[in-house]
Amino acid sequence: MSDCVFCNIVAGKLPAQKVYEDDQLLAFPSIDPKAETHLLVIPKQHIENLNALTAEHAELMAHLMLTLPDIAAANGLTGYRIITNTGKESGQEVFHMHFHILGGATLPGFN
Ligand code: AMP
Repeated sequence: MSDCVFCNIVAGKLPAQKVYEDDQLLAFPSIDPKAETHLLVIPKQHIENLNALTAEHAELMAHLMLTLPDIAAANGLTGYRIITNTGKESGQEVFHMHFHILGGATLPGFN
């Protein structure tokens, strides 16, 4: 999608410091970090958020979930928090599904 920030990063039209890339996924730091380490992991394919997933995305999502720990480990994280905001009410600002990896210091309690 031409007006999607993350599609433009995938297309190389916007800059990002890639920390992981394969044929299906891309990871880069958040432009506005909320933790010592704050990475975003996205599918290259434009999918709005979790609500837009269908059975056709099962393989991609399995790959994404299995790759998250590798990206965290490669960036020095042993403990981390994964967040995926879903929908306007959750605070989702970029409507291209992404998984925040937050870590690098002890995170404040969440539950
Ligand atoms: P969310 O509120 O869950 O949609 O999160 C959007 C995330 O994308 C936030 O961490 C933003 O700081 C980040 N973000 C927005 N634009 C860019 C960009 N051009 N490069 C890197 N991160 C971005």
